[in-house]
Amino acid sequence: MAQAKSGSDRMEKIVSLCKRRGFVFQSSEIYGGLNGCWDYGPLGTELKRNLKDFWWRRMVRERDDVVGMDGSILMNRQVWVASGHENTFTDPMVDCRNCKSRLRADQLPEKNGRKQCPVCGSFDLTEPRAFNLMFKTYLGATEDDSAITYLRPETAQAIFVQFRNILEISRKKLPFGIAQIGKAFRNEINPRNFIFRSREFEQMELEYFCRPENGLELLEYWLQERLRFYRDIGLSSESLHVHKIPPEECAHYSKGTYDIEFEFPFGIQELEGVAYRTDYDLNQHQKASGKPLDYFDEESKQHFIPHVVEPSAGVDRTALALISAAYDEEVVTDEKGKSETRTVLRFHPRMAPIKCGVFPLLKNNELLVRQAREIVDQLRGELMVFYDETGAIGRRYRRQDEAGTPFGVTVDFDTIGENGPALRDTVTVRHRDSMEQERIAIKELAAFLGERIR
Ligand code: ATP
Repeated sequence: MAQAKSGSDRMEKIVSLCKRRGFVFQSSEIYGGLNGCWDYGPLGTELKRNLKDFWWRRMVRERDDVVGMDGSILMNRQVWVASGHENTFTDPMVDCRNCKSRLRADQLPEKNGRKQCPVCGSFDLTEPRAFNLMFKTYLGATEDDSAITYLRPETAQAIFVQFRNILEISRKKLPFGIAQIGKAFRNEINPRNFIFRSREFEQMELEYFCRPENGLELLEYWLQERLRFYRDIGLSSESLHVHKIPPEECAHYSKGTYDIEFEFPFGIQELEGVAYRTDYDLNQHQKASGKPLDYFDEESKQHFIPHVVEPSAGVDRTALALISAAYDEEVVTDEKGKSETRTVLRFHPRMAPIKCGVFPLLKNNELLVRQAREIVDQLRGELMVFYDETGAIGRRYRRQDEAGTPFGVTVDFDTIGENGPALRDTVTVRHRDSMEQERIAIKELAAFLGERIR
Protein backbone atom coordinates (compact mmCIF):
# COMPACT_ATOMS: atom_id res chain seq x y z
CA MET A 1 0.00 0.00 0.00
CA ALA A 2 2.78 2.40 1.01
CA GLN A 3 4.51 1.52 -2.21
CA ALA A 4 1.36 2.19 -4.25
CA LYS A 5 1.01 5.55 -2.49
CA SER A 6 4.61 6.51 -3.14
CA GLY A 7 4.15 5.39 -6.75
CA SER A 8 1.11 7.60 -7.21
CA ASP A 9 2.83 10.54 -5.47
CA ARG A 10 5.78 10.14 -7.76
CA MET A 11 3.50 9.93 -10.79
CA GLU A 12 1.69 13.12 -9.72
CA LYS A 13 4.99 14.93 -9.43
CA ILE A 14 6.06 13.70 -12.85
CA VAL A 15 2.79 14.80 -14.49
CA SER A 16 3.03 18.18 -12.83
CA LEU A 17 6.66 18.66 -13.89
CA CYS A 18 5.76 17.63 -17.43
CA LYS A 19 3.17 20.37 -17.61
CA ARG A 20 5.18 23.01 -15.75
CA ARG A 21 8.27 22.55 -17.90
CA GLY A 22 6.54 21.92 -21.20
CA PHE A 23 7.11 18.23 -21.79
CA VAL A 24 3.45 17.23 -22.16
CA PHE A 25 0.13 19.10 -22.14
CA GLN A 26 -3.42 17.85 -22.29
CA SER A 27 -4.66 18.03 -25.87
CA SER A 28 -7.22 20.81 -26.54
CA GLU A 29 -6.74 21.92 -22.94
CA ILE A 30 -8.55 25.25 -23.24
CA TYR A 31 -11.67 23.35 -24.34
CA GLY A 32 -11.53 20.93 -21.44
CA GLY A 33 -9.15 18.45 -23.06
CA LEU A 34 -9.72 15.32 -25.11
CA ASN A 35 -9.51 12.04 -23.25
CA GLY A 36 -6.57 9.90 -24.32
CA CYS A 37 -4.84 12.59 -26.40
CA TRP A 38 -1.76 14.59 -25.48
CA ASP A 39 0.35 17.38 -26.95
CA TYR A 40 4.10 17.49 -26.52
CA GLY A 41 5.62 20.86 -25.68
CA PRO A 42 9.13 22.07 -26.57
CA LEU A 43 11.04 19.77 -24.20
CA GLY A 44 8.84 16.72 -24.81
CA THR A 45 9.18 17.14 -28.55
CA GLU A 46 12.97 17.19 -28.33
CA LEU A 47 12.94 14.14 -26.04
CA LYS A 48 10.78 12.16 -28.46
CA ARG A 49 12.90 13.27 -31.39
CA ASN A 50 16.10 12.11 -29.68
CA LEU A 51 14.46 8.78 -28.89
CA LYS A 52 13.20 8.23 -32.44
CA ASP A 53 16.49 9.36 -33.97
CA PHE A 54 18.45 6.97 -31.79
CA TRP A 55 16.08 4.09 -32.61
CA TRP A 56 16.48 4.87 -36.30
CA ARG A 57 20.26 5.08 -35.98
CA ARG A 58 20.47 1.71 -34.17
CA MET A 59 17.86 -0.12 -36.21
CA VAL A 60 18.49 1.26 -39.71
CA ARG A 61 21.59 3.42 -40.22
CA GLU A 62 24.05 1.26 -38.31
CA ARG A 63 22.92 -1.93 -40.05
CA ASP A 64 23.33 -3.33 -43.56
CA ASP A 65 20.28 -5.54 -43.27
CA VAL A 66 17.51 -3.05 -42.48
CA VAL A 67 15.90 -0.34 -44.64
CA GLY A 68 13.27 2.21 -43.72
CA MET A 69 9.85 3.18 -44.99
CA ASP A 70 7.15 5.71 -44.16
CA GLY A 71 3.66 4.47 -44.95
CA SER A 72 0.38 6.36 -45.05
CA ILE A 73 -1.91 6.30 -42.05
CA LEU A 74 -5.01 5.60 -44.12
CA MET A 75 -4.92 2.38 -46.11
CA ASN A 76 -7.30 0.34 -48.23
CA ARG A 77 -9.91 -1.25 -45.96
CA GLN A 78 -9.01 -4.67 -47.37
CA VAL A 79 -5.67 -4.44 -45.56
CA TRP A 80 -7.54 -4.52 -42.24
CA VAL A 81 -9.87 -7.26 -43.38
CA ALA A 82 -6.95 -9.47 -44.44
CA SER A 83 -4.84 -8.76 -41.36
CA GLY A 84 -7.73 -9.78 -39.12
CA HIS A 85 -8.07 -6.37 -37.46
CA GLU A 86 -11.57 -5.67 -38.77
CA ASN A 87 -12.94 -8.80 -37.14
CA THR A 88 -10.73 -9.41 -34.16
CA PHE A 89 -8.87 -6.26 -33.03
CA THR A 90 -11.09 -5.94 -30.00
CA ASP A 91 -10.97 -5.56 -26.25
CA PRO A 92 -13.66 -6.99 -23.97
CA MET A 93 -15.89 -4.18 -22.69
CA VAL A 94 -18.43 -4.08 -19.85
CA ASP A 95 -20.78 -1.33 -18.68
CA CYS A 96 -21.40 -0.52 -15.04
CA ARG A 97 -25.19 -0.42 -14.67
CA ASN A 98 -24.85 1.82 -11.63
CA CYS A 99 -22.60 4.68 -12.77
CA LYS A 100 -22.71 3.97 -16.53
CA SER A 101 -18.91 3.81 -16.85
CA ARG A 102 -17.51 1.84 -19.79
CA LEU A 103 -14.75 -0.45 -18.59
CA ARG A 104 -12.22 -2.94 -19.94
CA ALA A 105 -13.33 -6.32 -18.64
CA ASP A 106 -9.80 -7.71 -18.37
CA GLN A 107 -8.57 -4.80 -16.23
CA LEU A 108 -11.24 -4.78 -13.52
CA PRO A 109 -10.33 -5.05 -9.84
CA GLU A 110 -11.84 -8.01 -8.01
CA LYS A 111 -13.32 -8.22 -4.53
CA ASN A 112 -14.11 -11.59 -3.01
CA GLY A 113 -13.74 -13.14 -6.46
CA ARG A 114 -16.24 -10.73 -8.06
CA LYS A 115 -15.37 -8.09 -10.63
CA GLN A 116 -16.01 -4.59 -9.39
CA CYS A 117 -16.45 -1.18 -11.00
CA PRO A 118 -13.29 0.85 -10.15
CA VAL A 119 -15.28 4.11 -10.41
CA CYS A 120 -18.27 3.54 -8.06
CA GLY A 121 -17.55 0.14 -6.49
CA SER A 122 -20.71 -1.51 -7.82
CA PHE A 123 -20.77 -5.21 -8.81
CA ASP A 124 -23.66 -4.66 -11.20
CA LEU A 125 -21.80 -5.06 -14.49
CA THR A 126 -22.99 -6.20 -17.91
CA GLU A 127 -21.57 -9.28 -19.64
CA PRO A 128 -18.36 -8.50 -21.60
CA ARG A 129 -18.76 -7.80 -25.31
CA ALA A 130 -16.12 -7.25 -27.98
CA PHE A 131 -15.32 -3.62 -28.74
CA ASN A 132 -13.29 -2.91 -31.89
CA LEU A 133 -10.45 -0.50 -31.16
CA MET A 134 -10.06 0.88 -34.66
CA PHE A 135 -11.27 4.41 -35.44
CA LYS A 136 -13.58 4.20 -38.41
CA THR A 137 -13.68 6.97 -40.99
CA TYR A 138 -14.96 7.64 -44.51
CA LEU A 139 -12.76 8.35 -47.47
CA GLY A 140 -14.16 10.96 -49.86
CA ALA A 141 -17.52 12.70 -49.93
CA THR A 142 -19.91 9.79 -49.55
CA GLU A 143 -20.50 8.20 -46.19
CA ASP A 144 -21.54 4.73 -47.33
CA ASP A 145 -20.01 1.34 -46.69
CA SER A 146 -17.82 1.45 -49.78
CA ALA A 147 -16.04 4.53 -48.36
CA ILE A 148 -15.20 3.04 -44.96
CA THR A 149 -11.62 2.88 -43.82
CA TYR A 150 -9.75 3.10 -40.51
CA LEU A 151 -6.98 5.07 -38.91
CA ARG A 152 -4.20 2.51 -38.62
CA PRO A 153 -3.99 0.85 -35.20
CA GLU A 154 -0.35 -0.17 -35.85
CA THR A 155 2.29 0.78 -38.37
CA ALA A 156 3.28 -2.81 -39.24
CA GLN A 157 0.68 -3.54 -41.91
CA ALA A 158 2.11 -0.94 -44.32
CA ILE A 159 5.40 -2.83 -44.15
CA PHE A 160 3.75 -6.15 -45.04
CA VAL A 161 1.80 -4.75 -47.97
CA GLN A 162 4.90 -3.00 -49.36
CA PHE A 163 7.10 -6.05 -48.80
CA ARG A 164 7.32 -6.91 -52.51
CA ASN A 165 8.18 -3.38 -53.66
CA ILE A 166 10.88 -2.96 -51.04
CA LEU A 167 12.34 -6.39 -51.63
CA GLU A 168 12.68 -5.60 -55.32
CA ILE A 169 14.16 -2.13 -55.08
CA SER A 170 16.49 -2.81 -52.14
CA ARG A 171 17.78 -6.12 -53.57
CA LYS A 172 18.13 -7.49 -50.03
CA LYS A 173 18.59 -11.15 -49.27
CA LEU A 174 17.07 -12.87 -46.25
CA PRO A 175 17.36 -12.14 -43.42
CA PHE A 176 16.53 -8.46 -43.76
CA GLY A 177 14.20 -5.97 -42.11
CA ILE A 178 11.98 -3.01 -42.86
CA ALA A 179 11.63 -0.35 -40.15
CA GLN A 180 9.07 2.35 -39.66
CA ILE A 181 8.16 5.03 -37.14
CA GLY A 182 4.74 6.62 -37.18
CA LYS A 183 1.43 7.42 -35.57
CA ALA A 184 -1.08 4.75 -34.63
CA PHE A 185 -4.60 5.15 -33.25
CA ARG A 186 -6.62 2.93 -30.94
CA ASN A 187 -9.96 3.80 -29.46
CA GLU A 188 -8.89 2.50 -26.05
CA ILE A 189 -11.80 1.87 -23.70
CA ASN A 190 -9.88 3.30 -20.75
CA PRO A 191 -6.96 5.49 -21.71
CA ARG A 192 -4.94 5.95 -18.55
CA ASN A 193 -1.65 6.46 -16.79
CA PHE A 194 -0.86 9.71 -18.59
CA ILE A 195 0.88 9.04 -21.93
CA PHE A 196 1.25 5.32 -21.18
CA ARG A 197 -2.07 4.35 -22.77
CA SER A 198 -3.50 6.92 -25.12
CA ARG A 199 -5.76 6.90 -28.16
CA GLU A 200 -3.21 8.47 -30.47
CA PHE A 201 0.41 7.43 -30.09
CA GLU A 202 3.56 6.64 -32.02
CA GLN A 203 5.16 3.31 -32.70
CA MET A 204 8.65 2.27 -33.76
CA GLU A 205 8.37 -1.07 -35.52
CA LEU A 206 10.71 -3.42 -37.31
CA GLU A 207 9.60 -6.39 -39.37
CA TYR A 208 12.62 -8.66 -39.71
CA PHE A 209 12.04 -11.23 -42.45
CA CYS A 210 13.86 -14.55 -42.31
CA ARG A 211 13.90 -18.20 -43.28
CA PRO A 212 11.49 -20.33 -41.23
CA GLU A 213 14.35 -22.30 -39.68
CA ASN A 214 15.93 -19.11 -38.23
CA GLY A 215 12.80 -17.60 -36.64
CA LEU A 216 13.22 -18.82 -33.09
CA GLU A 217 16.90 -17.95 -32.92
CA LEU A 218 16.20 -14.46 -34.29
CA LEU A 219 13.48 -13.93 -31.71
CA GLU A 220 16.14 -14.38 -29.01
CA TYR A 221 18.57 -12.17 -30.93
CA TRP A 222 16.06 -9.31 -31.21
CA LEU A 223 15.06 -9.58 -27.58
CA GLN A 224 18.71 -9.04 -26.59
CA GLU A 225 19.21 -6.24 -29.12
CA ARG A 226 16.17 -4.40 -27.83
CA LEU A 227 17.26 -4.77 -24.20
CA ARG A 228 20.62 -3.34 -25.17
CA PHE A 229 18.82 -0.41 -26.79
CA TYR A 230 16.91 0.39 -23.60
CA ARG A 231 20.07 0.22 -21.53
CA ASP A 232 21.80 2.52 -24.00
CA ILE A 233 19.14 5.20 -23.58
CA GLY A 234 19.63 5.16 -19.83
CA LEU A 235 17.13 2.64 -18.43
CA SER A 236 18.85 0.45 -15.86
CA SER A 237 18.92 -3.34 -16.24
CA GLU A 238 17.14 -3.59 -12.86
CA SER A 239 14.19 -1.52 -14.09
CA LEU A 240 13.69 -3.69 -17.18
CA HIS A 241 11.88 -7.02 -17.08
CA VAL A 242 11.27 -9.68 -19.67
CA HIS A 243 7.94 -11.46 -19.63
CA LYS A 244 7.70 -14.55 -21.81
CA ILE A 245 4.09 -14.85 -22.91
CA PRO A 246 2.85 -18.40 -22.20
CA PRO A 247 2.05 -20.25 -25.47
CA GLU A 248 -1.66 -20.43 -24.65
CA GLU A 249 -1.80 -16.61 -24.40
CA CYS A 250 0.15 -15.90 -27.61
CA ALA A 251 -1.69 -15.01 -30.81
CA HIS A 252 -2.53 -18.26 -32.63
CA TYR A 253 0.04 -17.58 -35.37
CA SER A 254 2.88 -16.65 -33.01
CA LYS A 255 5.59 -19.16 -32.17
CA GLY A 256 6.91 -17.04 -29.32
CA THR A 257 6.41 -13.58 -27.85
CA TYR A 258 8.26 -11.58 -25.22
CA ASP A 259 7.10 -8.42 -23.58
CA ILE A 260 9.84 -6.06 -22.49
CA GLU A 261 8.52 -4.36 -19.38
CA PHE A 262 9.58 -1.40 -17.29
CA GLU A 263 8.98 -0.49 -13.66
CA PHE A 264 6.75 2.56 -14.04
CA PRO A 265 5.64 4.37 -10.85
CA PHE A 266 2.21 2.69 -11.33
CA GLY A 267 3.67 -0.81 -11.70
CA ILE A 268 5.57 -3.05 -14.09
CA GLN A 269 4.07 -2.59 -17.54
CA GLU A 270 4.81 -3.36 -21.18
CA LEU A 271 7.16 -1.12 -23.14
CA GLU A 272 7.58 -3.27 -26.21
CA GLY A 273 6.49 -6.59 -27.67
CA VAL A 274 8.98 -8.81 -29.51
CA ALA A 275 6.99 -11.41 -31.43
CA TYR A 276 7.79 -14.20 -33.83
CA ARG A 277 4.77 -13.96 -36.12
CA THR A 278 5.72 -16.78 -38.54
CA ASP A 279 4.48 -16.20 -42.11
CA TYR A 280 0.98 -15.22 -40.97
CA ASP A 281 0.84 -11.61 -42.20
CA LEU A 282 2.43 -12.09 -45.62
CA ASN A 283 0.32 -15.19 -46.15
CA GLN A 284 -2.90 -13.38 -45.31
CA HIS A 285 -2.10 -10.51 -47.69
CA GLN A 286 -1.01 -12.86 -50.46
CA LYS A 287 -4.28 -14.77 -50.15
CA ALA A 288 -6.48 -11.69 -49.96
CA SER A 289 -4.79 -9.59 -52.64
CA GLY A 290 -3.94 -12.43 -55.02
CA LYS A 291 -0.48 -10.86 -55.45
CA PRO A 292 2.64 -12.96 -54.81
CA LEU A 293 4.44 -11.98 -51.60
CA ASP A 294 6.95 -14.79 -51.66
CA TYR A 295 10.72 -14.84 -51.82
CA PHE A 296 12.84 -16.61 -54.38
CA ASP A 297 15.85 -18.27 -52.88
CA GLU A 298 18.55 -18.35 -55.52
CA GLU A 299 20.58 -21.09 -53.89
CA SER A 300 17.83 -23.64 -53.49
CA LYS A 301 15.75 -22.24 -56.42
CA GLN A 302 12.72 -22.36 -54.20
CA HIS A 303 9.87 -19.92 -53.59
CA PHE A 304 8.57 -19.50 -50.06
CA ILE A 305 6.90 -16.95 -47.82
CA PRO A 306 9.39 -15.53 -45.34
CA HIS A 307 8.78 -15.68 -41.62
CA VAL A 308 9.01 -12.52 -39.55
CA VAL A 309 10.19 -11.39 -36.11
CA GLU A 310 8.67 -8.10 -34.97
CA PRO A 311 10.08 -5.82 -32.26
CA SER A 312 7.30 -3.27 -31.75
CA ALA A 313 7.93 -0.36 -29.39
CA GLY A 314 5.91 2.66 -28.29
CA VAL A 315 7.50 6.10 -28.48
CA ASP A 316 5.23 7.64 -25.84
CA ARG A 317 5.61 4.79 -23.38
CA THR A 318 9.36 4.90 -23.74
CA ALA A 319 9.34 8.68 -23.29
CA LEU A 320 7.39 8.19 -20.07
CA ALA A 321 9.86 5.49 -18.97
CA LEU A 322 12.73 7.90 -19.64
CA ILE A 323 11.10 10.68 -17.62
CA SER A 324 10.15 8.29 -14.77
CA ALA A 325 13.65 6.83 -14.60
CA ALA A 326 15.26 10.28 -14.75
CA TYR A 327 13.10 11.99 -12.13
CA ASP A 328 14.95 12.63 -8.90
CA GLU A 329 14.75 14.92 -5.90
CA GLU A 330 17.66 15.57 -3.58
CA VAL A 331 18.34 17.94 -0.74
CA VAL A 332 21.32 20.19 -1.43
CA THR A 333 22.99 22.81 0.72
CA ASP A 334 24.36 25.98 -0.84
CA GLU A 335 27.54 27.91 0.13
CA LYS A 336 25.54 29.88 2.71
CA GLY A 337 24.41 26.66 4.42
CA LYS A 338 20.84 26.93 3.16
CA SER A 339 19.17 23.62 2.24
CA GLU A 340 16.71 23.17 -0.56
CA THR A 341 15.25 20.36 -2.61
CA ARG A 342 16.71 20.09 -6.06
CA THR A 343 14.49 18.47 -8.69
CA VAL A 344 16.61 16.97 -11.42
CA LEU A 345 15.92 14.86 -14.47
CA ARG A 346 18.94 12.61 -14.84
CA PHE A 347 18.47 11.82 -18.53
CA HIS A 348 21.21 10.03 -20.39
CA PRO A 349 22.89 12.91 -22.30
CA ARG A 350 21.90 11.14 -25.55
CA MET A 351 18.21 11.57 -24.70
CA ALA A 352 18.30 14.95 -22.92
CA PRO A 353 16.10 17.50 -24.76
CA ILE A 354 18.63 20.30 -24.27
CA LYS A 355 22.25 19.23 -24.22
CA CYS A 356 23.84 22.39 -22.95
CA GLY A 357 22.76 25.62 -21.24
CA VAL A 358 24.89 28.68 -21.97
CA PHE A 359 24.97 31.48 -19.42
CA PRO A 360 26.75 34.82 -19.24
CA LEU A 361 27.47 35.41 -15.55
CA LEU A 362 25.82 38.85 -15.76
CA LYS A 363 23.35 40.03 -18.34
CA ASN A 364 24.35 43.68 -18.21
CA ASN A 365 27.97 43.12 -19.21
CA GLU A 366 28.33 43.43 -22.94
CA LEU A 367 31.53 41.41 -23.20
CA LEU A 368 30.12 38.47 -21.23
CA VAL A 369 26.90 38.48 -23.25
CA ARG A 370 28.69 38.73 -26.59
CA GLN A 371 31.02 35.85 -25.72
CA ALA A 372 28.12 33.67 -24.53
CA ARG A 373 26.17 34.40 -27.72
CA GLU A 374 29.21 33.43 -29.81
CA ILE A 375 29.40 30.10 -27.99
CA VAL A 376 25.71 29.48 -28.68
CA ASP A 377 26.28 30.16 -32.39
CA GLN A 378 29.30 27.87 -32.42
CA LEU A 379 27.45 24.94 -30.79
CA ARG A 380 24.00 25.35 -32.30
CA GLY A 381 24.75 23.47 -35.54
CA GLU A 382 25.87 20.43 -33.58
CA LEU A 383 23.53 20.15 -30.64
CA MET A 384 20.50 21.63 -28.88
CA VAL A 385 21.64 24.58 -26.77
CA PHE A 386 19.69 26.99 -24.60
CA TYR A 387 20.78 30.53 -23.82
CA ASP A 388 19.67 32.00 -20.51
CA GLU A 389 20.79 35.31 -19.01
CA THR A 390 18.05 35.99 -16.46
CA GLY A 391 18.28 35.45 -12.72
CA ALA A 392 21.10 34.39 -10.41
CA ILE A 393 23.38 31.76 -11.90
CA GLY A 394 22.30 29.19 -9.27
CA ARG A 395 18.65 29.60 -10.31
CA ARG A 396 19.58 29.20 -13.96
CA TYR A 397 21.37 25.94 -13.15
CA ARG A 398 18.29 24.70 -11.25
CA ARG A 399 16.00 25.48 -14.17
CA GLN A 400 18.20 23.37 -16.44
CA ASP A 401 18.38 20.59 -13.81
CA GLU A 402 14.59 20.34 -14.01
CA ALA A 403 14.75 20.18 -17.79
CA GLY A 404 17.38 17.45 -17.58
CA THR A 405 20.15 19.44 -19.32
CA PRO A 406 23.39 17.55 -18.64
CA PHE A 407 25.85 20.43 -19.14
CA GLY A 408 25.90 24.12 -18.25
CA VAL A 409 28.49 26.49 -19.71
CA THR A 410 29.14 29.73 -17.86
CA VAL A 411 31.01 32.68 -19.31
CA ASP A 412 32.60 34.64 -16.47
CA PHE A 413 35.22 37.33 -15.96
CA ASP A 414 38.04 34.80 -16.36
CA THR A 415 36.68 33.95 -19.82
CA ILE A 416 37.03 37.52 -21.02
CA GLY A 417 40.51 37.87 -19.49
CA GLU A 418 39.63 40.32 -16.71
CA ASN A 419 41.62 38.31 -14.19
CA GLY A 420 44.70 37.87 -16.36
CA PRO A 421 45.57 35.81 -19.42
CA ALA A 422 45.76 32.35 -17.79
CA LEU A 423 42.06 31.49 -18.07
CA ARG A 424 41.12 33.73 -21.00
CA ASP A 425 38.94 31.94 -23.58
CA THR A 426 38.01 29.18 -21.15
CA VAL A 427 34.58 28.57 -19.60
CA THR A 428 33.16 26.71 -16.64
CA VAL A 429 31.38 23.50 -17.55
CA ARG A 430 28.98 22.38 -14.84
CA HIS A 431 27.84 18.77 -14.71
CA ARG A 432 24.15 18.32 -13.88
CA ASP A 433 24.40 15.12 -11.85
CA SER A 434 27.45 15.79 -9.67
CA MET A 435 27.13 19.61 -9.86
CA GLU A 436 30.91 19.60 -10.24
CA GLN A 437 32.56 22.20 -12.40
CA GLU A 438 35.59 22.13 -14.63
CA ARG A 439 37.38 24.61 -16.85
CA ILE A 440 37.41 23.96 -20.60
CA ALA A 441 38.86 25.98 -23.49
CA ILE A 442 36.11 27.40 -25.71
CA LYS A 443 37.69 25.90 -28.80
CA GLU A 444 37.45 22.43 -27.25
CA LEU A 445 33.82 22.74 -26.15
CA ALA A 446 32.15 21.25 -29.22
CA ALA A 447 34.35 18.13 -29.13
CA PHE A 448 34.02 17.82 -25.34
CA LEU A 449 30.22 17.91 -25.48
CA GLY A 450 29.96 15.96 -28.75
CA GLU A 451 31.68 12.88 -27.41
CA ARG A 452 29.50 12.85 -24.31
CA ILE A 453 26.12 13.12 -26.02
CA ARG A 454 26.47 10.79 -29.00
P1 ATP B 1 -1.38 -3.28 -24.33
O1 ATP B 1 -1.50 -4.74 -23.95
O2 ATP B 1 -0.66 -2.45 -23.30
O3 ATP B 1 -2.65 -2.66 -24.81
P2 ATP B 1 -0.49 -4.27 -26.80
O4 ATP B 1 0.14 -5.56 -26.39
O5 ATP B 1 -1.84 -4.25 -27.41
O6 ATP B 1 -0.42 -3.25 -25.58
P3 ATP B 1 1.01 -3.97 -29.17
O7 ATP B 1 -0.15 -4.15 -30.06
O8 ATP B 1 2.00 -5.09 -29.03
O9 ATP B 1 0.51 -3.50 -27.74
O10 ATP B 1 1.75 -2.63 -29.59
C1 ATP B 1 3.14 -2.50 -29.56
C2 ATP B 1 3.56 -1.31 -28.70
O11 ATP B 1 2.83 -0.13 -29.03
C3 ATP B 1 3.28 -1.51 -27.21
O12 ATP B 1 4.29 -2.26 -26.60
C4 ATP B 1 3.26 -0.08 -26.72
O13 ATP B 1 4.57 0.41 -26.49
C5 ATP B 1 2.65 0.68 -27.89
N1 ATP B 1 1.23 0.90 -27.62
C6 ATP B 1 0.21 0.06 -27.89
N2 ATP B 1 -0.97 0.60 -27.51
C7 ATP B 1 -0.68 1.83 -26.99
C8 ATP B 1 -1.46 2.89 -26.45
N3 ATP B 1 -2.79 2.81 -26.37
N4 ATP B 1 -0.83 4.00 -26.03
C9 ATP B 1 0.50 4.11 -26.11
N5 ATP B 1 1.29 3.15 -26.62
C10 ATP B 1 0.72 2.02 -27.06
